[in-house]
Amino acid sequence: MSGHLVLEMAREQLSHATKHLDLDEGLHAVLARPKRALTVNFPVVMDDGRVEVYEGYRVQHNTSRGPTKGGIRYHPDVDVEETTALAMWMTWKCAVANLPYGGAKGSVKVDTKKLSQRELEKLTRRFATEINIVVGERSDIPAPDIGTNAQVMAWFMDTISMQAGHTVPGVVTGKPIELGGSEGRVEATGRGVIVAAEEAMKGFGGTLSGQKVVVQGFGNVGSIAALLAEEHGAIITGVSDAKGAIYNPKGLPMQELYHKYSGKDGGIAEYKDCEKITNEELLELPCDILIPAAIAQQIHSGNADKIKAKLVVEGANGPTTTDADNIMSDKGILVVPDILANGGGVIVSYFEWVQDLQNFFWEEAEINQKLTRIMQRAYSDVDKTMKEYKTDMRTAALIIGVRRVSEATVRRGIFP
Ligand code: NAD
Repeated sequence: MSGHLVLEMAREQLSHATKHLDLDEGLHAVLARPKRALTVNFPVVMDDGRVEVYEGYRVQHNTSRGPTKGGIRYHPDVDVEETTALAMWMTWKCAVANLPYGGAKGSVKVDTKKLSQRELEKLTRRFATEINIVVGERSDIPAPDIGTNAQVMAWFMDTISMQAGHTVPGVVTGKPIELGGSEGRVEATGRGVIVAAEEAMKGFGGTLSGQKVVVQGFGNVGSIAALLAEEHGAIITGVSDAKGAIYNPKGLPMQELYHKYSGKDGGIAEYKDCEKITNEELLELPCDILIPAAIAQQIHSGNADKIKAKLVVEGANGPTTTDADNIMSDKGILVVPDILANGGGVIVSYFEWVQDLQNFFWEEAEINQKLTRIMQRAYSDVDKTMKEYKTDMRTAALIIGVRRVSEATVRRGIFP
């Protein structure tokens, strides 16, 4: 989907939520646009001496509730409109979890597979320098996203620190633990997905124990969600990664798949005691809970009526199209939306930032307990709103996000 269409979709969602809120037209116009969007073009000297010019962006959507927060994506298809939509979604996600942040997003148009480590480091340090005029531990705090990781965050933090003349750990989150990263950050999104699934199961009068679960994507989010679901007594009958999908109605062994197959050359499809299926077939398997945790737009008008799960918990960002949402809603499938279900990552990023600012670090058990409490509270807020407005859960989450941000904007007033 082009960036233009992604931004249009984000704006449609905003309009849909504002209809329930009786929002002032002027305020709607404020929320439909980013506060600040910086485009940078910068040179990098490649290993063979050539100079390549890269285009990057940092978009800050809204600062009414606090500094902005959001990942940095390295991908060949990014543009400023897609980055703006992602920043807007971060605003709602932070507000749903009631974190004191607005949303932001950054990106560089680059295929990292074509870069050496040295080139990746130089690109990161130069991009950090270019956007240093808008980021900062009190103003805008980036984090990893597609194509970036803890090492990229370490270079980013070091670059900002070199220019400040002292270490500034709070300028990015998702850092390695030894540089001020947080315990529990790596597992946070998958853990939050499972808290959301448990809360949803309570609504059905049950627990995760004995439920048949299918997970699409076995990366950071999907593998941790699958491992934790298994710990809670669920039976994981299907999982997939980019190389293929596997199914066993009696259950698949998550520990073995995680430690012996995931991330290896052939991926989890190398596992033997199962049926090999396609990623499309995986989504349509008979199961109680489906967790899409791979890429966007996987459940669409072509397959939504074949989904057999009673509960879909969105680990990925944007895995369901608007048409599919309507079809699943008609079928009575409960969809826990991404801006609620995968908020665990930004919640523990918030903990990382607080720990960095205080220079005082917490233990993992404390972090997991606080994460669970915030996820449960956010779930309960969205559930109540869904019942009050008689709407689906995605609209309910957007209503909360948009309402909290617009209330903050009105309270602060419009300067001058
Ligand atoms: P990741 O790169 O670690 O894992 C992605 C997984 O999806 C891999 O197993 C990959 O093989 C698989 N995959 C890729 N294309 C696929 C396809 N066509 N069909 C099936 N599987 C495919 O990424 P991640 O960090 O686990 O992120 C997954 C999703 O969750 C993304 O949408 C991301 O935006 C979202 N998310 C991640 C976090 C986080 O903290 N990591 C937070 C919020 C949202």
